[in-house]
Amino acid sequence: MSDLETLHEQIRRCTRCKLHASRTNAVPGEGPERAEIMFIGEGPGFHEDKQGRPFVGAAGQFLEELLASINLKREQVFITNVIKCRPPANRDPEPDEIEACRGYLDRQIELLQPKMVVTLGRFSMARYFPSAKISQIHGQAKKMDGVIYYPMYHPAAALHQPSLRRSVEEDIKRIPQFLDEIDRMAEQEPPEQAEQLSLF
Ligand code: URA
Repeated sequence: MSDLETLHEQIRRCTRCKLHASRTNAVPGEGPERAEIMFIGEGPGFHEDKQGRPFVGAAGQFLEELLASINLKREQVFITNVIKCRPPANRDPEPDEIEACRGYLDRQIELLQPKMVVTLGRFSMARYFPSAKISQIHGQAKKMDGVIYYPMYHPAAALHQPSLRRSVEEDIKRIPQFLDEIDRMAEQEPPEQAEQLSLF
């Protein structure tokens, strides 16, 4: 078993926070161990909890369409979430739940070493862009420690709001260009405080 598979087994058995009690399946994430791009959503919903796979409902279908617009299939990227178990009634993740899962996400990034981390929605954005507003920074790439962090709106929000939909459709199209330019992009300072969640 690879280190990533071992980690995913650990996540499937995790009892670090209260969400383990109500889950059907934990959802560690999926994709090739050598994926260049990692997408980080918020947390599993109803279908993800049933299947133990990320982004398999309506938001997942839209994510697949967005990927197709840059000639990628979901099997070519790594897809995961900030929290690995479904919150009851799909409520927002709570700070202790995000904290309990923090080490898992950090370890996934360490093992995968992606070139680009794309955050989907404000909860995953807050990990890398504390106190930022998603309406102001979506579509702006920042290279820190050799990795490009790129915030986008969440596909589920974009599905129902035409202006956000246009934004995600435009933002995803810039991913190939950033990957091409990664070696020439200037490094930026990592933010001082991590993970202070700011809303809009
Ligand atoms: N929304 C998310 O943020 N993650 C999923 O896995 C599914 C829907």
